[in-house]
Amino acid sequence: MSKTHLGHTARKRFGQNFLHDEYVIDKIVSAINPTNEQNLVEIGPGLGALTDPVCERIDKLTVIELDRDLAKRLRHHPFNAEKLTVIEQDALALDFSSLKEHLPHPQKPLRVFGNLPYNISTPLMFHLFTFSNLISDMHFMLQKEVVNRLAAVPGNKNFGRLSVMAQYYCSVIPVLSVPPDAFKPPPKVDSAVVRLVPHASPPVEVASAHTLERVCAMAFNQRRKTIRNSLKDCMTEAQISLLGLDPTARAETLSLADFASIANVVYEQEN
Ligand code: SAM
Repeated sequence: MSKTHLGHTARKRFGQNFLHDEYVIDKIVSAINPTNEQNLVEIGPGLGALTDPVCERIDKLTVIELDRDLAKRLRHHPFNAEKLTVIEQDALALDFSSLKEHLPHPQKPLRVFGNLPYNISTPLMFHLFTFSNLISDMHFMLQKEVVNRLAAVPGNKNFGRLSVMAQYYCSVIPVLSVPPDAFKPPPKVDSAVVRLVPHASPPVEVASAHTLERVCAMAFNQRRKTIRNSLKDCMTEAQISLLGLDPTARAETLSLADFASIANVVYEQEN
């Protein structure tokens, strides 16, 4: 299939797979259901597959696009230019709290959406989680495998660091599966849309989200090892047992609450 779509040659390094399936686009825009009372922010608008139908419903949309040519195209958009605030920047490096000055309702939270570049989707999720107190919801197209990991429960083979951290910050609701032929050029993998709704208050008490993330990284980096082994640099077997956990268990069988109690012990002894 041609890599050129609407006069633009897709750039692999920017993860450019442009949506063209009207049914899928309709489903996503209906799931987002944007209105003028909200602050909508799109990551990676590209050639406007989601931008244009969203702009049919609202008067102001902030978009973050790294590709200079696409950002320029959006600034000169034939009928939506006036509605768009184009931020030509790397979403991974963007301080989302700095968007306030561009928003139609600076006191209200952000609603973030996008068909994300798959090559940076996991670090981007982690980056966005740190702004979850500013965000009311997110709708993202991701690799299906990443959506499976976001939504996985303990005991599932997909359960890992991303599942624990996503579920610490958000409710995770898979919305729609999307086949490769919905995109130009088609990606090599299946895709899916997910809705993430940051919790009003966290489901478990954690002294430091950073420590939680560090503990998860340690435990899942060696996921076939027992937690006695994978956590040995930060916890003794006796400490694990004291939490009511089996030191010979594997990370993928632990719950978010288990990881929270491990992280709190580690935090306490380090501080
Ligand atoms: N939204 C369009 C669509 O659905 O057809 C394009 C989606 S394409 C998968 C990803 C988009 O994200 C591209 O426009 C790409 O240039 C942009 N992009 C890639 N890396 C980015 C980054 N770090 N920050 C912001 N945008 C990025």
